[in-house]
Amino acid sequence: MTAPVSLETNAHHGIPGHEVVLLLETDPHRGLSGDEAARRAQRFGPNVLPAQRGAGLLVRILRQFHHPLIYVLLVAGAVTALLGEYVDSVVIFAVVVVNAVVGFIQESRAEAALQSLRALVHTDAKVVRDGRERVIASEELVPGDLVLVEAGDKVPADIRLLREVELRVDESALTGESVPVVKDEVVLPDATPVADRRNMAHSGTLVTAGSGAGVVVATGAETEIGEIHRLVGAATTLATPLTEKLGYFSKLLTVGILALAALTFAVGLLRRQDAVETFTAAIALAVAAIPEGLPAAVTITLAIGVSRMAKRRAVIRRLPAVETLGSTTVICADKTGTLTENQMTVREIWTPDETVHVTGSGYAPDGELLTEGGLPAPVTSNAALRWSLLAGAACNDAALTHEGEHWGIVGDPTEAAMLVVAAKAGLTSEHTGDSLPRIGAISFSSERQYMATLHRSGDGHVALVKGAVERMLELCSDQMCSDESVQPVDAAAVLHAAEQLAAEGLRVLATGVRRSADLREFTEDALPGTVTLTGLQAMLDPPRSAATPAVTACHTAGIAVKMITGDHASTASAIAGAVGVLDTGPTTGRAVLTGAELADLLPEDMPDAVEHASVFARVSPEQKLRLVEALQDKGHVVAMTGDGVNDAPALRQANIGVAMGRSGTEVAKDAADMVLTDDDFATIEAAVEEGRGVFDNLTKFITWTLPTNVGQALVIVTAIALGAALPILPTQILWINMTTAVALGLMLAFEPKEAGVMTRPPRDPGQPLLTGALVSRILLVSGLLVAGAWWLFEWELTNGATLPEARTAAMNMFVVVQAFYLFSCRSLTHSVWRIGFFTNRWLIFGVVTQAVAQLLITYLPVMNTVFQTAPLDFGGWLRIFAIAVVVSVVVGAEKWLRARMNLRKGV
Ligand code: ATP
Repeated sequence: MTAPVSLETNAHHGIPGHEVVLLLETDPHRGLSGDEAARRAQRFGPNVLPAQRGAGLLVRILRQFHHPLIYVLLVAGAVTALLGEYVDSVVIFAVVVVNAVVGFIQESRAEAALQSLRALVHTDAKVVRDGRERVIASEELVPGDLVLVEAGDKVPADIRLLREVELRVDESALTGESVPVVKDEVVLPDATPVADRRNMAHSGTLVTAGSGAGVVVATGAETEIGEIHRLVGAATTLATPLTEKLGYFSKLLTVGILALAALTFAVGLLRRQDAVETFTAAIALAVAAIPEGLPAAVTITLAIGVSRMAKRRAVIRRLPAVETLGSTTVICADKTGTLTENQMTVREIWTPDETVHVTGSGYAPDGELLTEGGLPAPVTSNAALRWSLLAGAACNDAALTHEGEHWGIVGDPTEAAMLVVAAKAGLTSEHTGDSLPRIGAISFSSERQYMATLHRSGDGHVALVKGAVERMLELCSDQMCSDESVQPVDAAAVLHAAEQLAAEGLRVLATGVRRSADLREFTEDALPGTVTLTGLQAMLDPPRSAATPAVTACHTAGIAVKMITGDHASTASAIAGAVGVLDTGPTTGRAVLTGAELADLLPEDMPDAVEHASVFARVSPEQKLRLVEALQDKGHVVAMTGDGVNDAPALRQANIGVAMGRSGTEVAKDAADMVLTDDDFATIEAAVEEGRGVFDNLTKFITWTLPTNVGQALVIVTAIALGAALPILPTQILWINMTTAVALGLMLAFEPKEAGVMTRPPRDPGQPLLTGALVSRILLVSGLLVAGAWWLFEWELTNGATLPEARTAAMNMFVVVQAFYLFSCRSLTHSVWRIGFFTNRWLIFGVVTQAVAQLLITYLPVMNTVFQTAPLDFGGWLRIFAIAVVVSVVVGAEKWLRARMNLRKGV
């Protein structure tokens, strides 16, 4: 039986750390045993938040009725019932219900799709179990686990801290307070509110600085955030700027239509027409003119876009990003890991007296160090080389792993490469760890640009340092010769050597040593001017194979690609050249700018300089924010990548913040709009392509749906103006609008992207959804529908058809024309012959479904009664299809003419 772990108290902040350890039956250094963790996992379940409760089912269904259009329909249904037209009234109410159900189902599916995406972005947790540090999925954490956190991590459970070093945590997810809270281990009074529990780190909060270790005291639903989650049930929002704009548009439309309908009714009464008939006409006008399917179609199209992007490894965290992606004009990408593989191999080591080449590739320590003459390099006789290798291996937090033949790494690839080259020279980490035990460290950060460690060596201490060359030259006063003597550092020679290596695209790190290091002097302030430079290690990080074609595709699509890196300008330029970032043609300004040059720019010169440059080297994370702002000043829509804690402000400021799913910190993912699960630049390009496709599909739906509404409304208005019988009745209009929107229109959301999406410039975000060309097409089709409806209606009546028969013909004409026109809308510029009839199977399925529905409403007696329709003869169908063919030919001709005109204008 499991030992009863006491979780009785939830006031772990009020007990000393060692008592919490006892209470939870764990070990403050070795953590739980694997077996015990497995037992507790059984008992406490996975560390996941409970499913969100959200709004209740009833509330969500009722919400579907909360639309101005539905109010109109409900009133219309009620008045129709009062007038004794019960069948009509039932049809109207049925439509309202069907509409609500369809809306509800679609909304739920879209929400579920968005929710499931969350699972794609994993959160890992670092734990100590059986005395060994390991990384596990955060779901596997159990109470009692010893967890380690450091800057950039998301706290994976509620933790009572046992140890910490300068730990700062952003608790805004929990308390709303965005200033990071300083943590410590002191015991607090029981009554301390959650926001002031300094000795606890709560699940879901973000570590912004320092590191710490603590015991898990609550997981999943039992955590503080779990509690809030249960109470609030944060709902996924499906709103985007576009849906909001459309919502506003449809409200305006409803008001306008109601006014028009009221006017119609009043005119009818003044003309002493039959009140019931006039009222029916007014209702017909109202239901005809409102595009019922629009909101659902927009949501569905966006949701389909999101899942298509997820398939291409881009996970959207905020829905508006789907729209914005289509208008992106600049992508600012990190070099390391995004444009390159982030697989480092040391190729050359420069020491003041000689240069050594390194053979072998990957992380396997198989290879040799060779002199320029091709002989084995003298690791024992060249002291500088030996110390450089030692610094690389011991001033290092990475580790090599191997299973069978396969060598892998844990930690930073730059550091792993230095371990590998040391191992190739026979210096393994066990070796260095034994002879040089580490007793202190100044950790690497992008701002500091170096890392230093202090080691015990014999009776004394030695400090080992590695970092960016320019930074290391600030720390070094002298350099080491091969016989271990020192001479003043020749900065010019070092910089020249570094420059030459960087020009080959190699990443260069300098190494140094301070042999008589004193414990008290091992501080950041005391280091400058005290270190001896030992050498330069140059490593290759090959460009990703997909990067070059993706960069070219972006250029063709009118999107500028800029590389942002902490690396040296020459390394950055060489890689930028290799992947095509520098291929943007003649620029007026400088193509490569460094962080120092950026800092010197006058604020007013910044936007132009930034717009012209393609490579930004030695840039600090703070400068990324200024880069985004400068580009936005020039009117750009900016996508910016980032992975570190300090990248968060730039990610938030960018129009699309892009975080790295693999190497990125939780803080960066939290700030981002999109997460790349493979960290690859090509994925951003793929997401942009999908974003453009989504926007096209929305435009196609609107271009397709509006002519029916305008056409139907015009038919009613003309009937009233002429004092003639209505060619289609309100219930028939509702039938057309509801069935075609679901069976035909929605299928456009599944439309594959057109071939040319990435050969045209980005969409101007200010540009209206419907361009002049599309508005004129909508008017053209509406006009054809009105003419067709009247001609057919009159022809049937004059040739002996009854009123229901003539109306059935007119109604079917609307649907058939819509089905034909649907194929035309599959491309806004090309003819359907060019894109192929069967490339969207869903559409074929939709057309068949619609055909069956039309046969039912035309021939099924009960439908005839309900919708006041009547069976049609073969001649009727022939006339209907003839009209549809005419409309298609006219629309085809219009498309062709416009394409030719555009060609001539060079558009
Ligand atoms: P990117 O922004 O493209 O990811 P990066 O990884 O080169 O660029 P940083 O990680 O900020 O940027 O590194 C800046 C510089 O600091 C590097 O060019 C290198 O010289 C040095 N550096 C990188 N990693 C380490 C490390 N682990 N220890 C010491 N110095 C390092």
